[in-house]
Amino acid sequence: MEHQELLSGFIRPHVLHHAAEGNLYGNWMIEELAHHGYRISPGTLYPMLHAMERKGYLTSRVERAGRSQRRIYRATPYGMEALTMAREKIRELFHEVAPEDRGA
Ligand SMILES: [Zn+2]
Repeated sequence: MEHQELLSGFIRPHVLHHAAEGNLYGNWMIEELAHHGYRISPGTLYPMLHAMERKGYLTSRVERAGRSQRRIYRATPYGMEALTMAREKIRELFHEVAPEDRGA
């Protein structure tokens, strides 16, 4: 992805948003991010998910999927709280950097 370092800050709130809405797993999130134009490898996303879990934003459990298994993530109450704050910050930033798109 071009400007990866600059834009990487948007990924964690995006992950948190989807983990608050429902269960997610790594490959699904990689595809979701790809729809938004972010190319992120498992080698980057998985450590990010682990770190977010370690910090208490996410909780995970292992689920069997056919013959393999995958780790399913969900936002914790602490993660929900962080998301509420992130939303305010995103809204504030949005109004400043994209004022022409403000609530029509
Ligand atoms: Zn999304």
